[in-house]
Amino acid sequence: TRLSEVALAGLPNAVERPAYVRSAVTPGIVHLGIGAFHRAHMAAYVDSLLGADPSWGIIGASLRRPDTRDALAPQDFLYTLAVRDASGTRCRIIGSLLDVIDANADREGLLARMADPQTRIVSLTVTEKGYCHDPATGALDQNHPDIRHDLGDPANPVSAPGMLVEALARRKAAGIAPFTVMSCDNLPANGRTVRRILIALARLRDPALADWLEAGLACPSTMVDRIVPATTDADRAEISGLTGREDGWPIVTEPFTQWVIEDHFPLGRPALETVGAQLVEDVEPFELMKLRMLNGSHSSIAYLGYLAGYQHVSEAIADPGIARLIHGLMTEEVMATLPMPRADLEAYRDALLQRFANPALKHRTWQIAMDGTQKLPQRLLGTIADRLAEGLPVTRAALGVAGWMRYVTGIDEKGAPIDVRDPHAARLRSIADAAGRDATRLADGLFALEEVFGTELPQHKGFRETVTRHLDSLFAVGAAETVRKVAG
Ligand code: NAD
Repeated sequence: TRLSEVALAGLPNAVERPAYVRSAVTPGIVHLGIGAFHRAHMAAYVDSLLGADPSWGIIGASLRRPDTRDALAPQDFLYTLAVRDASGTRCRIIGSLLDVIDANADREGLLARMADPQTRIVSLTVTEKGYCHDPATGALDQNHPDIRHDLGDPANPVSAPGMLVEALARRKAAGIAPFTVMSCDNLPANGRTVRRILIALARLRDPALADWLEAGLACPSTMVDRIVPATTDADRAEISGLTGREDGWPIVTEPFTQWVIEDHFPLGRPALETVGAQLVEDVEPFELMKLRMLNGSHSSIAYLGYLAGYQHVSEAIADPGIARLIHGLMTEEVMATLPMPRADLEAYRDALLQRFANPALKHRTWQIAMDGTQKLPQRLLGTIADRLAEGLPVTRAALGVAGWMRYVTGIDEKGAPIDVRDPHAARLRSIADAAGRDATRLADGLFALEEVFGTELPQHKGFRETVTRHLDSLFAVGAAETVRKVAG
């Protein structure tokens, strides 16, 4: 049997299901980028509060592919969230998602839904590259092909910023206040960043629209944390075994979940504090902690672990060299750049190391390695820049950067090809092809990518030398040995 409203009856008792009348739920949120993460995180929080307030149902939207819509439409947009750790898997049916709009099939329908006064929040998980910005500076990339398209044809936008600005323009024309834009992507100061991007794009279209947004657009920053690997066929099989229902696209995650939100929602918000979210004045210290401790470690594990032959994070972190490196990266290099008390950071580190080791979560190093040009600045380069400014060493963080450089050559340590996914993959490839296995030429070529490294960092001689030395070692003796050497 396929999962559906009707098929909720008779689910095994162990499977949790929506504790509210789903037909009474009305949409209040539009979510752009209806990927695995949103479905394990925000949609689950909202699912927990719809009984108390049914006015916050979610309409999801895909700007890219119709795959999520195709999978979920035949099951009334219900899906299974499987929470997994060493003790087993617990399944819960999530009902907060009411519909998914495929933007390429129904752009007008999506824009109308966003412009509707019932929509009070538009949230996003469109990945870092979805913001069409320059990751080193956080500014809108006016030359991005999607942005050029959207400036030429603003009523039919293809980018997430273009979609938001067009919907906001329609609200302005209709005399409706702007919805609140809530980014849940791993960007530094994600609220301020998306606001800057939207206002810059609006200004290129219509200065009056930009002024209206300056005056009234709220973009609270958020820190989101829950590890959500891509779903595999083995997951599908296990989950349908547990629920007795076929599910076109279930989601697997860990027990841990965290959401810190800046409390700035002029049109109102769901009572997320009643279901475990933290509403605070200023999210940025939390975001910085998460980006540098969790994501910085994740990216280092991804590049170096992949090169050392590990498919999953849990296997990589079981390697004593990698475990020592990551422990040292957080303790000796990242912590001093963060404003929190040392004891809190140590507790956070220990919890992270445990989460990384969760063997039930098959989080692929290859998945985390994707889009490095978009991720490196906030995950590793921020730590490095802060430390260099204080004259402090950056040995371990620089090894993460060198790991990325080695990875984007597209050839692994056994000579097999690596499927390097990145919006700049073609440029990375041509730099790597020109450099061959010459570490200095490769590092020089990659340091010249201003949208990744900016202009200041590449001028730091000590930093360049450290990265180049590590890269040389990665070519000469491989990742496992280099990690052991650097980790001490
Ligand atoms: P996913 O691959 O399941 O989904 C990505 C979504 O982004 C899809 O809906 C896709 O269509 C959309 N997208 C991709 N490129 C886009 C573009 N250029 N413009 C517009 N939309 C685009 O990935 P996910 O696991 O859901 O992760 C999405 C984001 O969520 C991450 O990039 C990160 O910022 C954030 N996040 C993820 C996790 C996690 O563990 N998976 C944890 C914290 C935060």
